[in-house]
Amino acid sequence: MTTTPTDDFVDPRGDLRWGTTSTLLTEAANRLGDTEAIVDGDVRITYAELETAVTEAAAAFLAAGLERGDRVAVWSPNTARWIVAALGLQRAGGVLVPLNTRFQGNEAAYILDKSQARILCVIDEFLGRDYPASLEEAIGGAGEGRPYAALPGLEKVVVLFGQAGRHTSWDDFVASGSSVTEETVRVRAAEISPDDLSDMLFTSGTTGNPKGAMCTHAQTLRAYAVWAAVVGLREGDRYLVVNPFFHGFGYKAGWLASLIVGATILPERTLDVPHVLKVVREERVTVLPGTPTLYQTMLEHPDFSSDGVSGLRLAVTGAANVPPSILERIKEELGFSHIVTGYGLTESCAIVSMCRYDDPPEIITSTAGRPLPGLEVVTVDAKGLPTPTGVEGEILVRGYTVMKGYFGDEEETAATVDSDGWLHTGDIGVIDENGRIRITDRIKDMFIVGGFNAYPAEIEKILDSHPSVAQSAVIGVPDERMGEVGAAFVVARRGATLDADELIAWARRNMANYKVPRRVHVVDALPVNAAGKVLKNDLRARPGA
Ligand code: ATP
Ligand code: MG
Repeated sequence: MTTTPTDDFVDPRGDLRWGTTSTLLTEAANRLGDTEAIVDGDVRITYAELETAVTEAAAAFLAAGLERGDRVAVWSPNTARWIVAALGLQRAGGVLVPLNTRFQGNEAAYILDKSQARILCVIDEFLGRDYPASLEEAIGGAGEGRPYAALPGLEKVVVLFGQAGRHTSWDDFVASGSSVTEETVRVRAAEISPDDLSDMLFTSGTTGNPKGAMCTHAQTLRAYAVWAAVVGLREGDRYLVVNPFFHGFGYKAGWLASLIVGATILPERTLDVPHVLKVVREERVTVLPGTPTLYQTMLEHPDFSSDGVSGLRLAVTGAANVPPSILERIKEELGFSHIVTGYGLTESCAIVSMCRYDDPPEIITSTAGRPLPGLEVVTVDAKGLPTPTGVEGEILVRGYTVMKGYFGDEEETAATVDSDGWLHTGDIGVIDENGRIRITDRIKDMFIVGGFNAYPAEIEKILDSHPSVAQSAVIGVPDERMGEVGAAFVVARRGATLDADELIAWARRNMANYKVPRRVHVVDALPVNAAGKVLKNDLRARPGA
């Protein structure tokens, strides 16, 4: 099934002409000067002040010798300074490489190396993370003629908050920009083309090593101007962002979308429910995206009451399934009038499909909405032929959100974006008669039992409905007779005991024979990555899996 845009194409901010994040900010500052752009605790920054701060930061990056297309990494929790650093390096022509705040030093070093970042902006706490290797150690002591021996490409570490030690503090860094005139910054900013890279976000590495998906200014701005229109984000909104800035949800669908429409961004450093509730009340927050768990935790918190949260209008949630009962409570008790969900991947600027602002609850709980206007989405079978409506296939995407490729990895790029421009997502899903998408699994996780396709996500859902199962993960393992069979890793609910044979016998009564796991391993916990996704490669590598 193919789905082409059914809505009229919305180009809500056509006047942007898909410029750069730098021109976007200048334009917003001219239009909204005294409006608050960022409220971060006691720090309140207007659009006009943000414009000035970003020019100063850009001057510092130019003073450090940053050239167009050079990569700069940012590793910090959500703060106003994160945004100033990101926009500053982009105004200087740099490419933003955000790092996951749950990384250990060695994981951060991997991406610093892979992206060949010249400058790292980081908080002192992350520099010193000591397990299994601190970044300090991973980047190495000063080597011959270069500051960080183990990462030859890294020239400067700027410490956003905390003790700078042998590195450069943010204040000193910004002060170093005073040698560069505003005019010089303006000249550089004007040189940047909308088709230059704005950022390189790394995939979460669920199916392999993280890969850097390259994306241009024009792509990012267009995708999120359209996104904002589709979900109903608008000027004057007060937008609380709990989603991390290192991810497309917190960065592109977060503070950047806020700048695009002229809203006020309120960054949250950690997921602290009483604090979120306090900010919602005191700052009259109108938009609060998050995981279903965030809303649930808010509702269940002892401090929760519906008092003072009546400003909340728009909830945006994703990835995980949203149970209808939670959706009901989100509306009734938290007072949201609109809730939307969506589907995306790093290789498509984090966005493919979205529910619309006025979609009814049954659509929101059962689908990931329709493709963004202007994107083409199709499902294909193993031979690459389109599958009929409602029939599973691999999801392919074509259009303006598809990345320019993986940085430094032409082979992987060619295997992912074909010569006709289709992005092969590796996700399996169906498209219904209304063009709505439902994700059912990942190709890499699917296995074939005696000729039948077995989808782990479906099997896991059934296993999870067993009263003693807290969580399960299913993988395909080689089998002499059947080719492959399923093996399940299950975690028991607290206080419950699980018997492998009993669970297999139960599975025989609850699913088709080819789906029944032939082996069950009862484990204490499942291996998960920083994004909370189960690492199936880890499970496959276990002896006797
Ligand atoms: P890697 O590509 O390195 O293995 P990853 O695919 O987990 O890592 P991301 O780009 O962060 O890294 O995640 C995108 C994936 O998340 C999608 O390809 C899809 O499998 C899953 N996903 C996103 N949205 C949804 C959704 N609404 N429903 C189900 N799965 C989703
Ligand atoms: Mg992926």
